[in-house]
Amino acid sequence: MSSQLRHQLVERVYDQGGAFQFYWNSWLPLRVNCFVWRLKLNRIPLIDNLVYKGIRISSRLCKLCNKEDEGRDHVFFTCDYAKEVCNWFGVWAGLVNWDIGTFEMMCDYIRDLVTSKKNRKLITSLCYSLLWFIWKERNKRLFGARVKKPFQFADDIQLSCVNWVKNRGKMGKMTWAEWCCRPKVSE
Ligand SMILES: [Zn+2]
Repeated sequence: MSSQLRHQLVERVYDQGGAFQFYWNSWLPLRVNCFVWRLKLNRIPLIDNLVYKGIRISSRLCKLCNKEDEGRDHVFFTCDYAKEVCNWFGVWAGLVNWDIGTFEMMCDYIRDLVTSKKNRKLITSLCYSLLWFIWKERNKRLFGARVKKPFQFADDIQLSCVNWVKNRGKMGKMTWAEWCCRPKVSE
């Protein structure tokens, strides 16, 4: 993506989002950034969005828990499955008072972090990755994949995200054990 297009993208988010801060994260692949941006605009094909557009859906139930209607904040934050993953995530990432119920709350949390620029970028990377992998898990369920337990899902995040962060964030000295224990940047 050209820097001009990236700039336009961020500008557009600022225009539409008011207080929302969209942090473009150069450590993460383009597809992950674009996904989070579309999530912010609530333009991903969640069932409630499809129904709103008049598309007939046989079941409105969330694919992760099969208990409640699928919507953005439910799938990513308040679903029992997502909550279990998010709780683990908060502990692993060392996020104090990590009790997130909505997308906006997550954005506010990142915005209000009192930390270094580099660490903020790391935490943004982790949060975006969390959302990305929840979405991927949801889509796999849609197409009949076997249910992955939250702890298996956690392993996947650690494994996939480490490559993005280590390579693009220039954190080559970080060991796998350090990463699994608590991801942190060297200041
Ligand atoms: Zn659910």
